[in-house]
Amino acid sequence: MGRTFFVGGNWKCNGTSEEIKKIVATLNAGQVPSQDVVEVVVSPPFVFLPLVKSELRSDFHVAAQNCWVKNGGAFTGEVSANMLVNLSIPWVILGHSERRAILGESNEFVGDKVAYALSQGLKVIACVGETLEQRESGSTMAVVAAQTKAIADRVKDWSNVVIAYEPVWAIGTGKVATPAQAQEVHAELRKWLQANVSAEVAASTRIIYGGSVSGANCKELAGQPDVDGFLVGGASLKPEFIDIIKAAE
Ligand code: PEP
Repeated sequence: MGRTFFVGGNWKCNGTSEEIKKIVATLNAGQVPSQDVVEVVVSPPFVFLPLVKSELRSDFHVAAQNCWVKNGGAFTGEVSANMLVNLSIPWVILGHSERRAILGESNEFVGDKVAYALSQGLKVIACVGETLEQRESGSTMAVVAAQTKAIADRVKDWSNVVIAYEPVWAIGTGKVATPAQAQEVHAELRKWLQANVSAEVAASTRIIYGGSVSGANCKELAGQPDVDGFLVGGASLKPEFIDIIKAAE
């Protein structure tokens, strides 16, 4: 089953409106493969979503970086999935390790968020990944499986889910996983999906890699059979994001 290459740009909590407009202008001028070869989604901070959506080329799409776990109401500071749908924002990133670590989001809470966002019609980039300590103690797969299980327990239809494997030790550190390390976890995750969800979901779900992806290392990572794309942080704010998109070719 074909899995279209997927490249996401996570702009995190960065940018002024002037800087955001410059990034969008660079993206709009980039020569990249067509949408049937690579799906591109960029994720600006909430306040810039309407600006980016209106100025971004129509073959690229936007994602929010988070949304609330259920319908809106008395939840000061939160943004609901329904509001994103109302603004025609098609994607949301959920379970990023920065939110898990800094804001204490548990596997169950992330699973609930994924299920609610999907139920409202959003597409979800669901992040999983182990810390350095967990990798060194040999529990990488147990950690990633537990994070994925919390989603699988709550989600039946996986067609709008992309899993981002993002080892925490590789995020923003310049310490990228080797192609072999990424491939090993992606293949294990796919096996986990096959055993615990279905062969069809395992074959069709895109598993993308995130953690210090750059223009220099993307090609080799993209050559791995179970690496279906990238979630890019720092480099997605720079012109080299275009080179990363081209790794799909
Ligand atoms: C991320 O935060 O999702 C990420 C992958 O960051 P970076 O590419 O900067 O490591």
